Amino acid sequence: MKKKMIIPIFLPELACPGRCVFCNQFLISGQKGVPDESEIGRIIERNLSTRSAGIRQVEIAFYGGSFTLLSLQEQQRLLAIAGFYVKSGNVDGIRISTRPDAITVENLQLLSANHVSQVELGAQSFDDEVLRASGRGYNSDAIEVAAQKIREAGLELGIQLMIGLPADTLSKALDGARRVVGLGAHTSRIYPALVVEDTALARMWRAGEFQPLSINAAVSWIRKMRDILYQGRVKILRIGLHPSLDLQSSALLAGPYHPGLRQLVEAARWRAQFLRFFYPKSGVLGKNRVYGEPLTIQAHPDMMGFLVGPGGINKKFLSRRFRKVVFMQDDRLIGEENTGRWRYSYGQVEEEILFF
Ligand code: SF4
Repeated sequence: MKKKMIIPIFLPELACPGRCVFCNQFLISGQKGVPDESEIGRIIERNLSTRSAGIRQVEIAFYGGSFTLLSLQEQQRLLAIAGFYVKSGNVDGIRISTRPDAITVENLQLLSANHVSQVELGAQSFDDEVLRASGRGYNSDAIEVAAQKIREAGLELGIQLMIGLPADTLSKALDGARRVVGLGAHTSRIYPALVVEDTALARMWRAGEFQPLSINAAVSWIRKMRDILYQGRVKILRIGLHPSLDLQSSALLAGPYHPGLRQLVEAARWRAQFLRFFYPKSGVLGKNRVYGEPLTIQAHPDMMGFLVGPGGINKKFLSRRFRKVVFMQDDRLIGEENTGRWRYSYGQVEEEILFF
């Protein structure tokens, strides 16, 4: 597997036309301000010094603000700092994130000419009602137009989605995932809306006008979105926020925050597989039985963490039915994080299953 290292440079809310209802990038990134030129250099150097032998590709990413709403001169200045490391051969490319209503052909040309390989659009939702209720200031047409321009410029397209915003529903979230596939995005990120201190959402939540998703609902929605994105060959770079010290303390007021949200989602997918194979409604493995022989499950080492689940959640689940559950690694079962084959054996029964 080609391992990639992303060096994030957070520019909290830099050039944003206003603060969106859910956003407080200072608390989310744990940063007090925008780093200056020498600090950006130090962040890059520090990250490069930790590069391990398995890393095949390194990219510098400008996140957390509206990069393309900076003046062209300011964009060029930041890109030149990162570009120095591209020219020296230590870094392979640059990526930036921005708003869908801040994409112009002229700007894309500047990005292309300065080693930018990917533009991530903070779309959040493709539903106009959700976009309006969240004060995003653009509609779904703007996302489509921006995405098309990025693809036409020959740049990779990334799209960030947020679930559980005001007026959001499961079917709107699933439609968003389908639209991301339809636009030919290369990558995606999914974040659940959290109630963070000093935001409009916090005021709405305190007034009883907004209720965030529960953690179970967030896992369930994301599991379904994840399947749509994977089947559409859109790589999911991240599910949920990076754990940051501030968010784990008083800054997070409510919402489905979990430091291992992706692991919960993937573990839930595996549980669905186990339900299918070990909890059929009829047959030998019928309901309400406990089995005495060991159940052995084999999978690629890359899948093992998801398969067992955070805190052994899936092992505990299976242990309710089987007296003994054994997980074994087998690297011949080709896997990439969460796809590939897995095998189980119980008594005389042995089966190998293709899993996407
Ligand atoms: S545009 Fe993005 S970074 Fe800026 S305030 Fe809105 S969500 Fe936050």
